[in-house]
Amino acid sequence: MLEKHDVRTASFLPASRANALSRLDAFTPQMAETYTEERNSDYGPDDRSNISCLSPFHAHRLLTEQETIARALGEHGLERAEKFIQEVYWRTYFKGWLELRPSVWTRYRTAVKQAIEGLSGERKKTFERAMAGETDIECMNAWAHELVETGYLHNHSRMWFASIWTFTLKLPWVLGADFFYRHLLDGDAASNTLSWRWVAGLHTAGKNYAATASNIRRFTEGRFDPEGQLAVDPAPLEDDWNGKPEPLVAVPAPARGKKSILVLHEDDCGWDSLGLEGIDLVAVAGMTVTDDRSPYGASELAKRFAIEAVEDALNTADDGLPVDAVKLASPSSLDDLAEETGAEQVIYPYAPVGPVRDRLDAAAAGWRQAGLEVSQILRPYDNAVWPHCTKGFFHVKNKIPELIKDL
Ligand SMILES: Cc1cc2nc3c(=O)[nH]c(=O)nc-3n(C[C@H](O)[C@H](O)[C@H](O)COP(=O)(O)OP(=O)(O)OC[C@H]3O[C@@H](n4cnc5c(N)ncnc54)[C@H](O)[C@@H]3O)c2cc1C
Repeated sequence: MLEKHDVRTASFLPASRANALSRLDAFTPQMAETYTEERNSDYGPDDRSNISCLSPFHAHRLLTEQETIARALGEHGLERAEKFIQEVYWRTYFKGWLELRPSVWTRYRTAVKQAIEGLSGERKKTFERAMAGETDIECMNAWAHELVETGYLHNHSRMWFASIWTFTLKLPWVLGADFFYRHLLDGDAASNTLSWRWVAGLHTAGKNYAATASNIRRFTEGRFDPEGQLAVDPAPLEDDWNGKPEPLVAVPAPARGKKSILVLHEDDCGWDSLGLEGIDLVAVAGMTVTDDRSPYGASELAKRFAIEAVEDALNTADDGLPVDAVKLASPSSLDDLAEETGAEQVIYPYAPVGPVRDRLDAAAAGWRQAGLEVSQILRPYDNAVWPHCTKGFFHVKNKIPELIKDL
């Protein structure tokens, strides 16, 4: 018999395109009024009927944001599904924002290592208790267990958790972000890092998110009530990381007529919507680097989800494309495949700022040295939104009626 948490976990697995599409179908009727009215409530891990739970599939692009938005528009129209569509654009906004400010990612990576090294005494104990779900705050304990056991938390609970971690437990926000990133099935360098910064008052300078007992009581339907336990009116944190946005680097399309290996990675498994027409493919390869998320690696569940996602993409590519699809032990093991197939070019779906990009950048230098051309495929959807991500979300929000015309 399955343990209770296995049953909950099973609701996200398998990490496959088929599962993503059937979840999209199942949630489509709820994308309008139900979502608008109920999305802020966390009914608990056994009832996720009011939200889509599509984020792990978006994060690995087993389902593209474009497909989800198109479904909402086709079924309900912009007016009725506006709130849901805006939430999907939040994801794209965060990605674009970090793409324009890659130094925030570099600083975050350094800060995580420094914070781990700097932990000692009571603070270290509080950190360990918070992750183990052994604090004096019942809701924090429940969310820590849920995150570790299922790889998922409701958005509102993520906000409450991050706020209590930062302002009540007074732990470094970067360590909370690292804890989330290790465990979330939808773990995403941009949405995770920037949401934690937003809660702390760093993304929108001076505006932090303070969790309150009454809000938690209301939106958990009384399951939790941390009355008297939370920091009241905490001050926002401060730093100077955000700086000015850098120009986006142009991404030229891959050369046609060259023998090419397509490398699928855990940030984008959606080979069939990449626009591969005219590319002379000789093989498809797949890789995961999920342990690169954190100095502590990634959870077994997060790794399993990423591996299944890439394996599913390789299986469907093997069936759908006239070439073989193989799994790579690491990005550098592509060299043998290139020699076997006589490849002249390596192409991959654009890897946004994050650990996959870091690893692929390093591998690409080696591939170029070995005489291969390397190019990425940037999706028109991302390319259309990212230039608008220079400031706050409302700039993107205001552009939605225009952006959806191009979908
Ligand atoms: C501290 C913190 C950390 C977070 N870390 C991540 C992360 O690592 N990866 C991640 O994908 N999301 C992250 N989020 C955003 C959000 O919590 C999840 O995307 C959402 O809970 C996913 O559940 P869902 O698919 O049911 O979303 P729904 O409410 O059904 O929304 C539909 C889709 O819109 C996108 N979306 C919804 N809300 C947000 C949001 N606030 N920000 C960005 N995209 C959103 C997701 O792709 C989601 O699948 C974080 C939020 C906070 C507050």
